[in-house]
Amino acid sequence: MRAGYEPVIGLEVHVQLNTRSKAFCGCSTTFGAPPNSQTCPVCLGLPGAMPVLNREAVVKAARTALALGCQLRERSIFARKNYFYPDLPKGYQISQYDRPLAEQGGLEIPATAGGGARRIGITRIHLEEDAGKSLHEGFADSDRFSYVDLNRSGVPLIEIVSEPDLRAPAEAHAYLSRLKQILLFLDVSDCNMEEGSLRCDANVSVRRREDPRFGAKIEIKNLNSFRYLQQALEYEIERQIETLESGGRLRQETRLYDAASGRTHPMRSKEQAHDYRYFPEPDLPPLMLDAGWREEIAASLPELPAARQRRWQTEWGLTAYDAEVLTGTPAQAEYFEAAAKASEHPKVTANWIMGELSARLNAQGLDWSRVPMPPAHVAELVKILNAGTISGKMAKEVFEQAWKTGRSPRQIVEESGARQITDPAAIDAILDGVLAAHPAQVEQYKKGKVALLGFLVGQAMKASRGQANPELVQERIKARLG
Ligand code: ADP
Ligand code: ZN
Ligand code: MG
Repeated sequence: MRAGYEPVIGLEVHVQLNTRSKAFCGCSTTFGAPPNSQTCPVCLGLPGAMPVLNREAVVKAARTALALGCQLRERSIFARKNYFYPDLPKGYQISQYDRPLAEQGGLEIPATAGGGARRIGITRIHLEEDAGKSLHEGFADSDRFSYVDLNRSGVPLIEIVSEPDLRAPAEAHAYLSRLKQILLFLDVSDCNMEEGSLRCDANVSVRRREDPRFGAKIEIKNLNSFRYLQQALEYEIERQIETLESGGRLRQETRLYDAASGRTHPMRSKEQAHDYRYFPEPDLPPLMLDAGWREEIAASLPELPAARQRRWQTEWGLTAYDAEVLTGTPAQAEYFEAAAKASEHPKVTANWIMGELSARLNAQGLDWSRVPMPPAHVAELVKILNAGTISGKMAKEVFEQAWKTGRSPRQIVEESGARQITDPAAIDAILDGVLAAHPAQVEQYKKGKVALLGFLVGQAMKASRGQANPELVQERIKARLG
């Protein structure tokens, strides 16, 4: 970032809701079905077909709005957004315009400098339907024809518009990743960016630091990954600054990001902007969310990641970093929660889950919803370890066995006899042999060469094949030779 300039960024995020049926008809929303197999007169836009609002879509949109601290409007209005495109058979999209479902929320991102958090405002959240998909590739005659798949037509979306509160590409990244995390915990979307269930357009301008006014807003489209979002913003900010520095002017426009070159290209200027001729949708009544329904939805909100992190830190003594990592996905948070409760040692459990278990999942390309080892087994291992039944080194081996065989750690320990030796008499028996085998070292130790203690402990550990409790070994040597 060049000194003297400040970027101003606002994001518009489209989220496909994970309802089973579409927003205004009963067609399935399953991704990847044969083209046009999930359509009906409503989502094909046939004349005379009437939309009926999906209650579940409203509930999911409202849950999101409440989780993001928005005011839910008691009466919101659907509107027609008119434009022509081959994948939009009706010639309009049902959306919301001047009476959106929710307004005035926000979410916290970690502050880039000095710790703490920064609140990013959310302007509005509205419900709308998705358009179909134009397919330009993958057919024998793709050089001459494009195809249209209307399975996506009518799938429910919410659009979440942020205030222009972000001040760096990294902040935009953090905002989108926090937002995604919340959406996943709410179970309102699968947020799969590759399949298009989470899509993001970025608005960015630059201004001189002392300037209170914002510069001309450039909207960047086609940002279908976190990496592209950050790269496109970095490129675009540099481009805007260079334009201004070389005496040029910036005008409001829409640009397209090209991942291959890492650049943005003009798509349309303000003069070419669409006039959507919004007007109220005559086929749908106003959406009414009375106080009772709003309360019911509020009461159904799950514990969100920020609240979980706070609870784990205050009640269980986790570090902020550990709590953050362990709330990476809802499945991971659930896994940790179950294991920590059963083990009664949350911090040790966190270490095993973030260490051994994560490493193995990564190595095998598994995610937290498909962990072959149940949380109860992690808890068992932690309990056995904490009780001193096995040493840390042995615990790693038991973990390895449990992972490979699916057997319970307790069973493995019992059957292998791989218990830690904590009986002083048994330790003494081992020491009898060790001390007899090293008379010279014993003599020197007795004469005051205390550094030899480590050597003698090491010999005893070796003789016990790692099973002796090292603290107890040390204690017994001191007692016998001291
Ligand atoms: P439009 O009327 O074109 O939809 P809005 O004012 O509603 O524009 O803003 C759309 C998005 O652009 C929002 O996310 C907002 O935060 C962001 N935005 C608005 N003005 C600017 C600006 N000057 N620089 C960067 N982002 C901006
Ligand atoms: Zn349909
Ligand atoms: Mg707007």
